Parts: sequence; C-alpha cells; structure tokens
Amino acid sequence: MKNNIQDIIDNDLCISCGACIHTCPENNLEMFFNEEKGMHEPRALNSHLCGKCDCLNVCPSYSVDYSKLSVERFGRKPDSPLGNIDKIFLAQNKDKEINSKASSGGVIKAVLTHLFSTGEINAVISIKHKAGLDYSPELIENINEINELPGSIYHNIDYSNALRLLRETSGNIAIAAIPCQFDGLYKFIEQCEPDLKNKIKFTIGLMCGWTYSHHSLRAICKYKNIDFDQIDDVSYRGNGPVGKLIIKTKDGSVKKVNRRIDLHYAAAFDRSFNLPRCHYCINHGNFLADLVVGDAWLPCTVKTKTGISLVISRTEKSTKYLMELEAQGILTLVESTEDDVIESQTPRVVFGNYSYPFAELTGNSGRLAPQLSGPNREAATPVSNKVLEKFGKHIEIKRKMQKAGNYNKLLIYKYTHEFRPFLYRYIRWFFVRILKIKSITGSRKEMSSEKSGRFL
Ligand SMILES: Cc1cc2nc3c(=O)[nH]c(=O)nc-3n(C[C@H](O)[C@H](O)[C@H](O)COP(=O)(O)OP(=O)(O)OC[C@H]3O[C@@H](n4cnc5c(N)ncnc54)[C@H](O)[C@@H]3O)c2cc1C
Repeated sequence: MKNNIQDIIDNDLCISCGACIHTCPENNLEMFFNEEKGMHEPRALNSHLCGKCDCLNVCPSYSVDYSKLSVERFGRKPDSPLGNIDKIFLAQNKDKEINSKASSGGVIKAVLTHLFSTGEINAVISIKHKAGLDYSPELIENINEINELPGSIYHNIDYSNALRLLRETSGNIAIAAIPCQFDGLYKFIEQCEPDLKNKIKFTIGLMCGWTYSHHSLRAICKYKNIDFDQIDDVSYRGNGPVGKLIIKTKDGSVKKVNRRIDLHYAAAFDRSFNLPRCHYCINHGNFLADLVVGDAWLPCTVKTKTGISLVISRTEKSTKYLMELEAQGILTLVESTEDDVIESQTPRVVFGNYSYPFAELTGNSGRLAPQLSGPNREAATPVSNKVLEKFGKHIEIKRKMQKAGNYNKLLIYKYTHEFRPFLYRYIRWFFVRILKIKSITGSRKEMSSEKSGRFL
C-alpha cells in the first residue's frame, strides 16, 4: 500500500477535483491530462510522492462521510435519505431567452444574479469556457457575466483552480458545482483550512448522475465523421428539456446530435464512458450544497417544450431566495415532493442501489474502492452481486476498447450484448412518463395539471 494519492490514480478513481495538489508542501503535484484515460488527474513532478501530507485525506475518492460533513455544513443531521431538506420545488425562469439557453429551468443563473444584486455576494466561482474542450473554474465578479456562463458540461474538466481562487479571493463568494467538486472542496476545508468556509456564502449544486471521460466525444466524433482535434466548443443542453449535443469545429461547421433517440449517442455516452469513480458515487443529489438543481424528468412535465428544474432547497435561507425571486416575477415556483425527486432521478441513483454494493464487491476482491457513507445508506436496496458482476464485466471490456480507440467495435459490442436493457429503458419511459402507469395504479401521486400548467 502506498498510502498516498498514487493509490487513487493507479485504481482509476480520480474525479479531477484537484484538492490533493493544494496539500503538497513541496508543490510536487500537478494536474495533467491523461490521454489514455481521457481525463485530468494529478501526477508527481519528480516521480516520487512522499505520503506525509494530506493528499489522500482530502481525496473524495478515498473516503467521504456525508452525514458528518452535512452536520458541519448545516448544523444538523440530514433529515431524509435525500439529505438536509427545507423544501422541494419545481421551478422555471420566466425569461424565455434565459430558459431556452439553460440546461433545465434557468434557476442557477436567476439565483446567482439575485445574490449579486442584493449584495449578498461579490463573486462567484463557476466554470467558464477556455478553449476547445477546456472548461475551468473562474472568478466571476461582474453580474453581466452570469447569463453567459455555460450550461451543463458533461465531459471531464480540471477543477483544481477553484480552491486556488477560494484561497486568494476575499469577500463573500458563491460557488456553483457538481457534487464531487464540492466533496473535494469541503474535504480540503475540513482537513486543511477550516477558515475557508467563512468565505463561502452560498453554494448551488447541480444534481449529477455521472460525468464522462473525453472518450465519449472521441467516439461520437468517429461515429458522426467529425474531426475531434478540430473541436472548438461543445454544448449538451438548451432549447428545451432534453436539448441536443452541439459540436462546433474550428472551420465553423456545426453538428447537432439528438440526445434522446440516436444509437450513436446512446453508445458514445453509455456508462462505460463514465469516470470509474462515478460507479461508486452515492452523492448524486449534492448533499453538501445549499440549493440543488436538476432536471424535472416527470410524467407531469413530459410534454413541456421548455426546461423545468427540480430544486432541493436545503436551508431556510435558500428557500427565502427562491421565494424572493418568485415574488419579483422572475421564477415560477411550485412546491414538490421527495417522491418527485426519486421518480425523476430513479431510486437506483438517489439511494445508491448500485454504488454501495459495487464498492463492497470491489473491496472484497482486494481492490481499492472509495469508502462512502451517506444518509441514503439505510434506504438503499442493494442489487445482487450477479447483476454487479455483469455490469462490471461489460464496463471493463468496453473501457479496453476505448483505450485502444476501437469505438466501432464498442458500438457493435453494445448492441449485440446490451440491446435488451437498452430497449427496456425506452419501454419504461413510455409506460411511466407517457402512460403514467404509476399514477394510474396509485403507486405515486402526480402533481395536478393546474399546478404543472403554470410552467411555460
Ligand atoms: C455532469 C453533469 C451531470 C448531470 N446529471 C444530472 C442528472 O443525472 N440528473 C439531473 O436532474 N440533473 C443532472 N445534471 C444537472 C442538469 O443537467 C442541469 O445542469 C441543471 O438542472 C441546470 O440547471 P439550470 O438550467 O438552472 O442551469 P444552467 O443555466 O444550465 O447553468 C448551469 C450552471 O452550472 C455550471 N456547470 C455546468 N456544468 C458544470 C460542471 N461540469 N462542473 C461545474 N459546474 C458546471 C455552469 O457554469 C452554470 O453556472 C447534470 C449536470 C452535469 C454538469
């Protein structure tokens, strides 16, 4: 056992939060892009890691106790398997232009703008586009920049700059981030610099199923005949609830890919392209953020042409901001339920039905698995080892194909070995979302059409 960050790298468990590089007293760690893995990860500058600093202790791929961190964040134990909850809403920005650019309902930008204009914050740390596929956390000090921030970026990005910005900036800061990025920040704060938390005035978290290595984009480029090396920018969402993957290349051409019904998209963005750490994640609902925003994938919203957000407000303060935005006519807000969160995100994702037993299985086989524990642990219904072994085997085979650049072989493999589960997804979608079978059989209560009809 090396007992330093090399253990994480060797086991492909990094999530590129970059917390570790800020712990090294000798500045011996840097982030670099690993072409073979298609992701950013740390490496030692002088090929030797000492193991004397906190690099492993701050790593969210080593261990996270979300219930403990939640108590530190919110001053009380989580009240539900979904974490600390004050209220749950469906919400939407009433400004059609902002809504159509947003990934779901345009709530994040409304809240950030509100915090700036009321003087609650003087800066935001959020990702911004640099060049090509590079997105990086940057400091936003001008309110006018908020609406120019990107929508959801699903491919792996280097998040290490966020901690540097937090340390160097004084004042009241808001941060928008996906769960594992907050995990890295809060583990670093807990282990190394507790005073940093005083600078964070508000956190907006995105719900996150999983992120993808850059192999996804390489694969879709191969399938759609696009020159990967010429990519100028990508966007995954916008213009409605689902949106299209849009790839712009340096010669000015634009390729749009349907994200719902396209066999190439489904192959290039299948679960084997996720960062391996995502398969162990139990924190899809962003336990540590004040306000959490995701997609309202519900029967009552299935026919809307605009994006609607599912929002978990974890504190009274964040509920107050939402109410203020509703009173100002900026947001449409309809109170929702935990059941809607579970239906929208699926129980498997919300409770970690795969992730908890997958970590156990990996650990039992002698390999390193993240030790993650959260308020959803008791509610999880672990899937069987047989299912997990099959899942793990398919992923291993497809990852080897990715590393060798055999994306066409992967496409054939997917549809010859996994056509049934692929089809099942669409059948389930049709029965649950369109036919509303759960509501008809009384296993869940649908939001009334009077309430859901308030959205654009
Ligand atoms: C990798 C990923 C996976 C997701 N998975 C799910 C899911 O499984 N279920 C679900 O309901 N929702 C998921 N989401 C969230 C959802 O896609 C929308 O991003 C969210 O609802 C946005 O709401 P909005 O319209 O208010 O924000 P927008 O107006 O679209 O603003 C997005 C904000 O998030 C920031 N941002 C975007 N991507 C990243 C990133 N990679 N890292 C850090 N900050 C980022 C932007 O800078 C911007 O401030 C995911 C998002 C991401 C990035």
